[in-house]
Amino acid sequence: MSNRLDHPFAQPPAHAQPIEVAPGILWLRMPLPFQLDHINLWLIEDGDGWTLVDTGFADDATRALWGRVFDDGLRGLPIRRIVSTHFHPDHIGLAGWLAERWGVELWTTQAEWLYARMLSQDSGEATVEWQVEFYRRAGFEGEMLDLTRRRGNVYRSRVVPIPVSLRRIGAGSILRIGGRDWTVIIGTGHSPEHASLYCAEDDILISGDQVLPKISPIVGVWPQEPEANPLQCFLASLDVFRPLPRGTFVLPSHGLPFRGLHERLDQLSCHHDARLAETLEACRDSITGKRLLDVLFRRPLDDHQVFFAIGESLAHLHYLMNRGEIQREQRADGVQLFRKT
Ligand SMILES: [Zn+2]
Repeated sequence: MSNRLDHPFAQPPAHAQPIEVAPGILWLRMPLPFQLDHINLWLIEDGDGWTLVDTGFADDATRALWGRVFDDGLRGLPIRRIVSTHFHPDHIGLAGWLAERWGVELWTTQAEWLYARMLSQDSGEATVEWQVEFYRRAGFEGEMLDLTRRRGNVYRSRVVPIPVSLRRIGAGSILRIGGRDWTVIIGTGHSPEHASLYCAEDDILISGDQVLPKISPIVGVWPQEPEANPLQCFLASLDVFRPLPRGTFVLPSHGLPFRGLHERLDQLSCHHDARLAETLEACRDSITGKRLLDVLFRRPLDDHQVFFAIGESLAHLHYLMNRGEIQREQRADGVQLFRKT
């Protein structure tokens, strides 16, 4: 996809060595143990301390790097507040650890906090069995089903215990951080109640995962809500950002900060249109969600990626099914097939 975005910073900062991207706003990079190998966190000057936006993944590497930031990355000032954009482990994984370390509260939306609490505590065998059944219906067989069972609840291993209470933010909430007001903008489709933060005075958007410059945010159907239509939610959420000014400086959770928000919204929308067209074409023959992976992802997927990919595949199928363009039928063995209407 051609990319006409303007990136004022050509290079990301080294891990644990924050750089200033706007007055009083630091860009902090942390690693991720996946092909997507990093996350951007933001430290915003907040009086005599910092408000931190997102926390990094709960592994030893990130904790060790945080130790270095505590020593010399915070200009001698404490973290006063933690904001998480959403429940994914790279965004909220260390919230409990950081909250305890600094004696501060976690601010996030109610649905994201509830999801994080729920998934981090669910140790039930019934959940794992339901996951196996969900992916079996989508077309997984043999080794893939064994892998699903072995994985169990991976979320629990990627976060430390989520804080037992929250400071709730929601659509239109205004956070006063230092000298700036930040308005909460809610997006859905990537996660249930994703919070982006927009400062109108300086025209800066902390977009979280809702708008990313290079990759398309994951939009997937997951076992918790097998009939969901998250792509419809995601595409509608893109429009929520269109009223922002054309020059908005976007601070995303992955990739480089950029200008060109509206171009990017158009690109993301076009990307899904193209994938929906491919999906519809593939549904000339009856097809499972698993089989559609070969059409949508023309590359080998590792054991981590394949679960995101199947979620994406089902999201495109459900979107078309809800529009009446394809229909679903169930084989005698429970496997679900989709075919053009
Ligand atoms: Zn995410």
